[in-house]
Parts: sequence; C-alpha cells; structure tokens
Amino acid sequence: ATLVKNEEGFKGHDMLAPFTAGWQTTDLHPLVIGKSEGSYVYDINGKKYLDALAGLWCTALGGNEPRLIEAATAQLNKLPFYHSFWNRTTKPSLDLAKELLEMFTSRKMAKAFFVNSGSEANDTQVKLVWYYNNALGRPNKKKIIARAKSYHGSTLISASLSGLPALHQKFDLPAPFVLHTDCPHYWRYHLPGESEEEFATRLAKNLEELIIKEGPETIAAFIAEPVMGAGGVILPPATYFEKIQAVLKKYDILFIADEVICAFGRLGTMFGCDKYNMKPDLVSVAKALSSAYTPIGAVLVSPEVSDVIYSQSNKLGTFSHGFSFSGHPVSCAVAIETLKIYKERNIVEKIKSISPRFQDGIKAFSDSPIVGEIRGTGLILGTEFTDNKSPNDLFPPEWGIGAYFGAQCEKHGMLVRVAGDSIMMSPPFIISEEEVDELISKYGKALKDTEERVKE
Ligand code: PLP
Repeated sequence: ATLVKNEEGFKGHDMLAPFTAGWQTTDLHPLVIGKSEGSYVYDINGKKYLDALAGLWCTALGGNEPRLIEAATAQLNKLPFYHSFWNRTTKPSLDLAKELLEMFTSRKMAKAFFVNSGSEANDTQVKLVWYYNNALGRPNKKKIIARAKSYHGSTLISASLSGLPALHQKFDLPAPFVLHTDCPHYWRYHLPGESEEEFATRLAKNLEELIIKEGPETIAAFIAEPVMGAGGVILPPATYFEKIQAVLKKYDILFIADEVICAFGRLGTMFGCDKYNMKPDLVSVAKALSSAYTPIGAVLVSPEVSDVIYSQSNKLGTFSHGFSFSGHPVSCAVAIETLKIYKERNIVEKIKSISPRFQDGIKAFSDSPIVGEIRGTGLILGTEFTDNKSPNDLFPPEWGIGAYFGAQCEKHGMLVRVAGDSIMMSPPFIISEEEVDELISKYGKALKDTEERVKE
C-alpha cells in the first residue's frame, strides 16, 4: 500500500492525544468539552459528538442522569465528608460495600475496600497480597505476574503491572518484582494451524514455565483484565482462563481480576468474571461503579484472604493503608444509586439485547482493505488497522492511520479512543438503537475517509 496525502482533518485532536494526557494546557489546542446529554457530549463551541468511548470507558449512564445528580446533592446536603479511618466510617460507605459484595457472585467475596481510582485499586491489591504473604510467614512470595499489553493504571505500581512499553520507558519501570507473561491475542500471536484452545494451552504452559523458572515460592499473584481494554480490546481465547486458573491454583498464587472496564455489564454480564468463569481472590472495580459521576474505585477481597489478614492482625498490626477519600460519602451515595439503576433497568439484559446490533454493525466492515481485525463483545469493541489483512503487515507509524481515523470520527461528530493503529469504542450502557445506527454510520464514514488515504 502507499500513502495518499490527504491532510484534511488530520490536525484533529487524536493526533496529539498521547502528549496531552493529563496535562492542562491550551498550547496544543485541546478539544474542550463543555456539557453532556445522554450518549452525547458537546464542545465549548457547541459541536455535538456521540461519545462512543463513554468518556474513558466509564460514563455508563451517559450525561445528566437526574437520579445521580439528586443522590450527590442529597448527600452533599446531609454529610459532604467524613473519613473511614480508625474504625469510623459513614452509612453510604457501609451500604455500598454490602451491595457490591452481594452483586459479585462468581465467587463469594467478604470485604470491600474503597479507593478513588482503578490505579489505586491495583496498588492496593499489591499491598494486600504482600501483607497476606507476610502474615502467612512467607515474605519471599512477593512477585506479581501481569501480561504484555495489559493496562492497570498510572501510579508506579499499577504502571509497572501494565504491559505497555510507553508506560515503562523513561520511568525506570516496571518495578523489579513485576513480571510479564504473554498477551492472549489469538489473531496476532497464534502459530500456523494452532486452534484457540491450543493457543490457550501454550500460554498456560508458558506461564507455568515462568513460575517454575522464578520459583513458585517467589510468586504472589497474577493479575488480568477479563477483556483487555487499553491494550486494544483483546478477548481471551477459548479455555484461556480455565487453564490459567489451574496453573495458579497448582502453585498457590492469588488471582487478581482487574474489572475496572469490564464490571457492571460492559461485556453483557454483570462482571467479566461471570463471562469467563473466573474465580478471583481479589477484584478491582472503578469507572462505571459511579457511572464516573464521582471518583471511586473498590477492591473486593475473598474470605480466604481477608481471614488471613484479620486473624494475623495481632502479629503484624493493622493493614496500614487508606486514603483521605476512601469511601467518600458523596461518591458512595452516587455509586449506590448507580447500582440501583443498573438493577432496575436490568442493564445486563439491555446490553445483551442491543450488543448484536453494535457488534454485527461494526464487524460488517471487516472486509475493508485497511482493517486487520475487528474484535469485541457486549458494548466494547476494537479495530486494528493493518495492511493485507495480516497482523504482521503494520502500516508505517508515521502514516498515522489510527490517528487519522480518530480525527475523521471527530470531524463527523464522534469520539473514539486511538492507540497507535488500534481504535476502541465502549459506548454508554444507555445507548439507543438509533444511536447505535448513528455510531455505525459515522464509523463507516471515517473508515471510508481513511481508506482513501491508503492506496493499494
Ligand atoms: N485498570 C484498567 C483495566 C483500566 O482500564 C484502567 C483505566 O483505564 C485502570 C485500571 C486505571 O484506572 P484509573 O484511570 O481510574 O486510575
């Protein structure tokens, strides 16, 4: 293929996205969002965009849900803040913990610990796992295995767990106690003739070999997203989690499920763990827990882990960890109302019924000459642009194919996530059939624009 120079719209904000994450500056002319309404957001000049990523995979109930605004306002009026240290807490925090523990059913969970973000949840997981092994008198069982292309956050530990080189380079990461094993992306990494099941068997074997090489007595935990999000929406191959979990069990290694994107319906099941028969010891949630109206995350802890932590507390002392805003009453009140709405509106069934329209509608573009793979489930979907339908024929990065597609979406009034030549979508759970059709139509237009940039 060759590049046809067509720079129209290429000064779109997606091109600059990697450089602006988190920095508040007008130097790079950011897209400034001013208001939201249902599945849409508006920039400060009034241009309307279909929010195909639900903010950052999180505004599940869309903009302006009056019940969440009322829940926050009522709590602000009653008790805007009290902490949850030294055996003091607030009613919303206790009620939310109870609700969350009841909702998670793939395995019984005993305790919830509140944080403010997914990154804090995963940092907390590592401290829990270390404390647990210290309490059991095995201080050398501390290494954590994560996977290539995973995303677990941006703090020093959660960025270390993440398997994305951009988060490590220049930061002296990953930390030495973190190891990475294979990314379970069948399309990209399977051997010729290898079935999904055989691929999963090979990956489980590689994991076991890594554990044996390092020494099982040094490995504390394995962390995985049910479906990898920021790494490009990567679904586990058939039988993958069964085989991985068998290896973890064999070597007494705790399993942490990072449900920060997948929880509360995104995959068409209440949790990603339900979909893939995952029985973790520890679970991280955030994002859609409050439909992103207020910052909150949580760690769920199994009875086996919490029993050790509590029964040994006389020896080790308290689990000295927590944040001023752990269990913030306003965030908890909003989260309680969010979970109530998910239940009342039967959000899982709603996502199950609308997702074929979304998935089939976008996957119908799989024949495009610039599309390598379109993959997804429920209301999450990724597209990877490659040449010749091959995972190995990457477009030259300087062509900016993914960024160009993102810029075209923006031009047509839709916001998606761009990461290299992968683009990702995770629309709000409330998206209507008409809005799904609009999303597909805008995707089609952006794809056509992008195809015209590349000549066979
Ligand atoms: N884990 C996963 C799977 C995520 O996708 C993210 C954020 O996108 C995080 C953790 C980090 O969450 P936060 O940005 O709230 O710190």
